[in-house]
Amino acid sequence: MTRMRVTVIGCAGSFPGPDSPASCYLLEAEGFRLVIDMGNGALGVLQRYAGLFEVDAICISHLHADHCIDLPAYWIARQFAPEGPQPVIPVYGPRGTAGLARPDLGPGSDGIAGGPDGQLRFDVRELGPGSFGIGPFLITTERMNHPVETFGFRVEYDGWRLAYSADTGESGALVRLAGGADLLLCEASFVDGQDARPDLHLTARQAAAHAERAGVGQLVLTHLVPWNDREQILAEAATTFRGPLSLATSGLLLGPGA
Ligand SMILES: [Zn+2]
Repeated sequence: MTRMRVTVIGCAGSFPGPDSPASCYLLEAEGFRLVIDMGNGALGVLQRYAGLFEVDAICISHLHADHCIDLPAYWIARQFAPEGPQPVIPVYGPRGTAGLARPDLGPGSDGIAGGPDGQLRFDVRELGPGSFGIGPFLITTERMNHPVETFGFRVEYDGWRLAYSADTGESGALVRLAGGADLLLCEASFVDGQDARPDLHLTARQAAAHAERAGVGQLVLTHLVPWNDREQILAEAATTFRGPLSLATSGLLLGPGA
């Protein structure tokens, strides 16, 4: 038995920043590697923390580019590996993920893309709300409050519980999903004074309020839009969440004992 280890690969919101790719998280236990989201630039930085072909499964929260656009890039890497096409791995995502996962290489590209087998580099499985296992992890999903179908995740292993908001506006489902979690990775895309459209994203203050209602042990704010001031994000969240609070950075290691 090992402990779950969570590495923030990318935590920039909406587009990559100078110090972080867009959304991507690496979860490890018992040698199994689960990647949640693969936003812009994630595949590059991911290779600092896992071998290129050491990913065992992928979950995609939704099909906005800053959460999924490196998935077809990863298909390319697995398909055209010098050692030959790499084994099929499961990819969980909302409706439409299969269409995104295989890059469009143009007419007549089936030959160079490995023929019909090339379509099978990923075993794409459509997500719905509920609980299921991926490797050693127990996963629970809920629909979040975002303009496209979006899933938040709760991941449990050996009694330790992580919740991830993905992208969401204010959401009772997020409070349920994160209830009593040891750690909530929650998006905080807006700060006070910005035109925060409802049903799209959370402000830092709203993220903190969700964490407080869910009674989580620790809050790490993520999906941080590069033009926002990090000190302001932290200060606004600190008015509402009373537990341990910090901002995600690329390379941050989280988990029991981290
Ligand atoms: Zn989004």
